[in-house]
Amino acid sequence: MAKNPQFTCTACGAHFSKWSGRCDSCGQWNSIVEERPLSSGPTSKSLGARRGAPVKLSDLGTQEDPPPRAQSGLAELDRVLGGGLVPASAILVGGDPGIGKSTLLLQAIAAFARKGMKTIYVSGEEASAQVRMRATRLDLLDAPVQLAAETNLRDILTTLEAERPGLVVIDSIQTMWADNVESAPGSVSQVRAAAHELTSFAKRMGMSVILVGHVTKDGQIAGPRVVEHMVDTVLYFEGERGHQFRILRAVKNRFGPADEIGVFEMTGSGLAEVANPSALFLSERGAPSPGSAVFAGIEGTRPLLVEFQALVAPSSLSQPRRTVVGWDGGRLSMILAVLEARCGIPFAGLDVYLNVAGGMKISEPAADLAVAAALLSAREDTSLPPDTVIFGEISLSGALRAVSQGENRLKEAQKLGFTAAIVPSGGKPVNIAGLTLNRFGDLTGFVGDMFGAG
Ligand SMILES: [Zn+2]
Repeated sequence: MAKNPQFTCTACGAHFSKWSGRCDSCGQWNSIVEERPLSSGPTSKSLGARRGAPVKLSDLGTQEDPPPRAQSGLAELDRVLGGGLVPASAILVGGDPGIGKSTLLLQAIAAFARKGMKTIYVSGEEASAQVRMRATRLDLLDAPVQLAAETNLRDILTTLEAERPGLVVIDSIQTMWADNVESAPGSVSQVRAAAHELTSFAKRMGMSVILVGHVTKDGQIAGPRVVEHMVDTVLYFEGERGHQFRILRAVKNRFGPADEIGVFEMTGSGLAEVANPSALFLSERGAPSPGSAVFAGIEGTRPLLVEFQALVAPSSLSQPRRTVVGWDGGRLSMILAVLEARCGIPFAGLDVYLNVAGGMKISEPAADLAVAAALLSAREDTSLPPDTVIFGEISLSGALRAVSQGENRLKEAQKLGFTAAIVPSGGKPVNIAGLTLNRFGDLTGFVGDMFGAG
């Protein structure tokens, strides 16, 4: 039976019937490779031919206890997991190489081990001696973690079956090698097969498994996205080079809220938890300067204050630059268009740079008004009022929309010493002692009040 060749994107896992230089699904170049399909298709006998065991059914009203969770004691990690580690769950931790995933997981597994959980750390990247050296640096030598340096999946599963740990860390999934799959370690089929074997084995045995996945750029090795659908929880460990802090972000969680974040700081002795991230992100903020606006945001269940910085300068280009770091470029274009169309403030002939200070990534539309304020402040070369936070969503008509959790945002601002807030006039009125609220119904009103008649 001749089978059509199948092509798979190593970055996002999309399938194609023919090769092309650029993935239509994620836009990555040179990431598409030919792959052997995992199974050879349905067998000649249908599944119903041999009868299986009856599955236990329950009705909608059945009361189920919430899953018991194991806490590591690292509050930032436990929160991102949704309140602790759920037994027999599969977790994927993705991130750029060298960002500190191994450090994070070694600290995490040591924390669980110290709480009495039986743990195994399988490193396919480093020799045990190297892992031990890291453990020495992190001061974790007393934690009863079992180590193995191995990539052969069959041997690993045999060991796990004999040892029966409560938690196993596989660092990394791209180095694992299943001998029943005919392709090189790191290929999409190997990574998928290894992830499938490990997660289904762990579920069967009642152990939790954490898979480490390197985000890859070159297309030779499959990235963590190709196994995201196989696990219960997907966490990404992010951070900018040159910045000390790291963010652990839940992008999928069957046992807790997605988009929850945990904030860590990389220190000489490992990752330290940051209990008050707003203070960290605002720590480099000096006196109020043109182009700077503090946004009171919400990340997951927690308020987070960050600073938007804008620079607007005359352009020598026929198409002026629009450069954004940490926010959505399309959203910036929209706000520039609304400022021009509704407030009569053109940005044509001007280069616009927008940046979230500290390297944080913001995706909330609630940041619209803070972005508009930073842009206007930069364009007019006027500072915004000091000690003021801003939030609000801007609609295409120029109206300001109320956003969720206004009270939490304001409380966080007050806690950090801010004395005023610029907010949309809609929504539930809230009163926070010591915080003056400036409410605006639309962007025109805000511009007129802050910068004189637009
Ligand atoms: Zn792709």
